[in-house]
Amino acid sequence: MNADWVVLDIEGTLTATSQVHVVLYDYARPRLGPWIDAHGDDPVVVAAVAQIRELGDLPPAAGTAEVVAVLHGWMDADQKIAPLKTLQGLIWEKGYADGDLTTEFFPDVAPKLRQWHSSGVRLAVFSSGSVAGQVASFSRTTDGDLTPLFSKHFDTVNAGPKREAPSYRTIAAGLDATGPRIVFFSDVPAELDAARAAGWQTVGVARSGEPFGDADFEPHPTIGTFDAVEVSL
Ligand SMILES: [Mg+2]
Repeated sequence: MNADWVVLDIEGTLTATSQVHVVLYDYARPRLGPWIDAHGDDPVVVAAVAQIRELGDLPPAAGTAEVVAVLHGWMDADQKIAPLKTLQGLIWEKGYADGDLTTEFFPDVAPKLRQWHSSGVRLAVFSSGSVAGQVASFSRTTDGDLTPLFSKHFDTVNAGPKREAPSYRTIAAGLDATGPRIVFFSDVPAELDAARAAGWQTVGVARSGEPFGDADFEPHPTIGTFDAVEVSL
């Protein structure tokens, strides 16, 4: 394939879904309340808490415990709601910085990312995890610090929902690229459909044992590992 940009999903594509659902969620869960209480003067946290009160139908005076109950409910339902992602991202960022967390990529990932990067293909991420969380997760991996490989990061806040074509048009504008010069890799067919509707090239990543490992990826070309694909300028 030929492209100027490779845009990558993370969960299920670069990392096992369990990495997020078990390791990261479990890490964030007990730390949400203490984080809110300790950062009452951080405008980002204040704005997130106000949004949680609104979305959770809580009274303005609702305390941290009620806010955290809403957050835990969203986590249990795997609802990726922006203020939850924001707080998780902050907590994970500190967890990586403190050395509590290390991202484990599938073994074919880091060699291919390095190969693409060194060949001049530029790399970007589009994940429902916040940009802060993305950068943190790449900073400390089983393959070292991979943050220098990535030129751009997109999430549902700065791009939009992952299953809607306008989000991919927003990203293309942010990359200063046309759709045909971008390849998107994801494990979720609906995300690939949205990217293709925006004119992008798409590749399905069907990893055995992952939630979408046996999904129908038609009409998208599909790989089981990154060893099976070449992208050059
Ligand atoms: Mg995914």
